[in-house]
Amino acid sequence: MAADQLEFIEAWTPETGAARVLAGYADRFGGRPAGVWAAPGRVNIIGEHTDYNGGLAFPIALPHCTYVAVAPSGNEVIRLASAQADGLWQVAMPDVAPGAAAVAGWGSYVAGTVWALRRRGLAAPAVVGYVDSCVPFGAGLSSSAALECAFAAACRDLGEPGWADTLPARRVMVEACIEAENQIAGANTGGMDQSASLLAVAAHALLLDCRSGEARPVPFDLAAAGLELLVIDTRAPHQLNDGQYAARRATCEAAAQALGVATLREVPLSGLSAALDALAGLPDGPVAVKRVRHVVTEIDRTARFVDLLEAGRVLEVGPLLDASHESLRVDYEVTVPQLDVAVAAAREAGALGARMTGGGFGGSAIALIPAGAGRQVASAVAGAFAAEGFGAPAFLGAVPAGPARRVA
Ligand code: ADP
Ligand code: MG
Repeated sequence: MAADQLEFIEAWTPETGAARVLAGYADRFGGRPAGVWAAPGRVNIIGEHTDYNGGLAFPIALPHCTYVAVAPSGNEVIRLASAQADGLWQVAMPDVAPGAAAVAGWGSYVAGTVWALRRRGLAAPAVVGYVDSCVPFGAGLSSSAALECAFAAACRDLGEPGWADTLPARRVMVEACIEAENQIAGANTGGMDQSASLLAVAAHALLLDCRSGEARPVPFDLAAAGLELLVIDTRAPHQLNDGQYAARRATCEAAAQALGVATLREVPLSGLSAALDALAGLPDGPVAVKRVRHVVTEIDRTARFVDLLEAGRVLEVGPLLDASHESLRVDYEVTVPQLDVAVAAAREAGALGARMTGGGFGGSAIALIPAGAGRQVASAVAGAFAAEGFGAPAFLGAVPAGPARRVA
């Protein structure tokens, strides 16, 4: 496929993002907001479907952000508009509760964030906000957490004096945004996305230990190693809410219970075959065996990936990415043909390794490629999609970026 027909989604500069939401705010609500905040989407390098198992994940924040122009509403009503959604979204804070009909739709991520911050005793105001984003949504790049975290940062800065931008405060915000997504938006996701968006460090990936809650930045300077990371948004429909994600989660929780452990993190690689033997005879045993094998080996792959990075052996990580994809395809069964074709085409075009990323069932893949090879690999992937009759994918260059922040 001709390189000039490829769609690359560029990250906006903070100036562009701020100008867009200031104009949108003036148009929809009139006047100027109190400020503009931005929060990044994320892409997970390795460690997939491990967060809700107390395991390890290793995301980076993308340079692609969701921008929000925000003012306190002055009363208890939240009013929102988005360049990515029609109409005005509105709710009165007293109506915000888990399962409440009043909080259906995209604004639930925002209302849930205010609600969850308040539950932690923080004086988060009801807000008026205008949203615009260059994070593709539903692409497995966590537009939902970017939306929550941008508003959490706005609430912090517009809320009670003394609620400073400290690491402990950010950790509380992570918890609140997870709760917003789980309880109010009704998406039962783990905590990786919100941690990446609020705790990321530029030029680093974040090693998340989802058992201890520790988030450790690890230098991830691909350019210095002559590499870059290509994100492939397959544009295949991505739907985590259709029960598949919940089913994977339920299987893992039931398996942990059957094994007598709090989470699958407690099963070391050395204990895997005994654990699988114990599960095999149970009802649904064959499925549990596959799911548990993925989780336990994926946690091990993530640890080994970080060890290689820290030993300066980044050129050797490719096979771990490939193995992660195979495990997600065969054992966790969360890939779709678009993801499998994307990684195969990327490898054939010279990627050191490639895998699906995010929850799966559509969404995105990543490929670790030689610096400068982005257009060539993208072209090969787009060509393979065309040959299969799939819709055209889009591409993003992923340089590890910083966390949610005020930009104007
Ligand atoms: P992902 O987080 O992988 O992009 P999700 O399904 O978790 O996918 O979240 C996508 C949802 O988040 C959208 O359907 C919408 O409700 C909400 N959302 C995210 N970004 C925006 C935005 N810029 N404007 C309005 N809603 C958004
Ligand atoms: Mg999401």
